[in-house]
Amino acid sequence: MARIVVIGAGMGAMAAAARLAVAGHRVTVYERAETYGGAVGRFERDGFAFDTGPGLLHLPAVYRDLFVKTGKEPLERCVELTQVDPASRHVFADGTAVSLPNASRAGVVSALDAALGAGAGTRWGEFLNRARDAWDRSRRPLLEEPLPGDVTRFARDPYPALKTGLLRRSATTLAEVGRRELRDPRLAALLESHALAYGFDPATAPAAAAVLPYMEQTFGSWYVSGGVRALADAVYERCLERKVEFVLGTEVTGVVAEDGRVTGVELAGREVVEADHVVAGAPLPALYRDQVLEWDSQEEWPRHQRGVRTGRVTVCLALRGAREADAVHRTVVHSAGREDELDALARGRLCDRPTVVVLRPGDERLRPDADHESVTVTATVPAGGAWASENLWGVAQTAAVEAFADRMVEAAAAAVPGLRERLLWRVVRTPADTFRDTGVFQVPGPALAGARGSLLPAANAAPLGGLYFAGGWAHPGGGLAHAGMSGALVAGLIVEGADFRGSQ
Ligand SMILES: Cc1cc2nc3c(=O)[nH]c(=O)nc-3n(C[C@H](O)[C@H](O)[C@H](O)COP(=O)(O)OP(=O)(O)OC[C@H]3O[C@@H](n4cnc5c(N)ncnc54)[C@H](O)[C@@H]3O)c2cc1C
Repeated sequence: MARIVVIGAGMGAMAAAARLAVAGHRVTVYERAETYGGAVGRFERDGFAFDTGPGLLHLPAVYRDLFVKTGKEPLERCVELTQVDPASRHVFADGTAVSLPNASRAGVVSALDAALGAGAGTRWGEFLNRARDAWDRSRRPLLEEPLPGDVTRFARDPYPALKTGLLRRSATTLAEVGRRELRDPRLAALLESHALAYGFDPATAPAAAAVLPYMEQTFGSWYVSGGVRALADAVYERCLERKVEFVLGTEVTGVVAEDGRVTGVELAGREVVEADHVVAGAPLPALYRDQVLEWDSQEEWPRHQRGVRTGRVTVCLALRGAREADAVHRTVVHSAGREDELDALARGRLCDRPTVVVLRPGDERLRPDADHESVTVTATVPAGGAWASENLWGVAQTAAVEAFADRMVEAAAAAVPGLRERLLWRVVRTPADTFRDTGVFQVPGPALAGARGSLLPAANAAPLGGLYFAGGWAHPGGGLAHAGMSGALVAGLIVEGADFRGSQ
């Protein structure tokens, strides 16, 4: 039985902790906040409740596997999961709207044909076939196996090249895929909104980001009753059942090492806790300061995921009046100023007309009574360099942030009839809140091949013996499902050793 210290109680770290405890290890999680879950938080006021992180789950298989491997009660007995149907409604800049059914390729194709004109659905379907190729090529080696020492094979984009004239030419960015292959600004906006939702700028994201809509439209979008926070509750409970110990309100300030191997961690009060293995579920500045990992410069993000510079603004809306019976759970209201939106992302400013994702769960647990509704509106925003984002999200910026929230609410009105008249109050959450919840302003995206490997997160096994990384900043990257996969990989590496070749 090894003594294992886990830093942070985010989803990736808790997934690793539960699996390691089942394997017979003594696992203690040190979490600097007073609660678990990290980004998967809940904000409550006056009987309203809101998910402050993700509002939907994709690839539930990852958490089904976690629950099967760590206990008798399967996931579906611990949380109530329902498919969201339609999976999403899209309102485009020209006012066209389309509702896309959940996990139905044929349904999506015919909905797009009907809304955008004959041929649109077929073009999208053909694009999804190519995205499936990219998914099939990268799924196992990129997501389900530990990152190899030599990552050059992932530097190339797995999205297939298309024949243009006599030549086969690969699209270099996702935006180029939209332009060349979808040939309709609304289909391009549909494609790009998937990249934006994961924090990637479509103008620079590799064509391989095509796997994001493929993943969602193939495996579906799922709602967790009570909000996604209920999933964090269930994972935490599972950890407790497996005798994982949690020490909340306790920050880890460093990793202690001797002769090239980790021997423990240092807590904020300078107390040292001994450990045979340490799993860091959060990017710990001290690890970079001590040059355990490569580090670009004091202000810059470490080498890994250099491309990730975005975070989220979420506006929680408390509304009076009942939700309409046919209200759609998720609506994406596309920007009418796409060029400005992408330019703003690239230059680190707030745009005039953001693309917003509006979530209307219609869950009685999230509202005081049937005559009220809770809604969240989210936009992807620049979040600057690693620990230096106070400039953009500091107190001095309050007026600019409130004005940006006004513009988000204005856009959301396309998804919520009578929104302005129904508004009781709103709370704006910015990357400064994400920093409080997770320790970082940005929200990391999933690992993507291509882009010369710049979107590959840190490997799960650190250069220092006995130190491992789980969670969104580690392989295979951010997002609920991917962080869950990182927990499985870390547990596999610790239990089975360096020869571990991925979960079966
Ligand atoms: C606003 C927002 C919206 C999102 N939307 C989506 C979405 O739509 N879909 C999706 O799939 N994903 C989304 N995500 C991302 C997703 O929530 C995360 O990738 C996922 O929860 C995995 O988190 P993690 O394991 O990296 O841990 P994190 O959530 O990053 O948590 C890290 C934990 O470590 C703790 N910690 C940090 N430093 C220390 C320290 N020194 N000592 C002790 N503890 C420490 C933190 O307090 C925190 O609890 C969103 C995230 C945010 C913030």
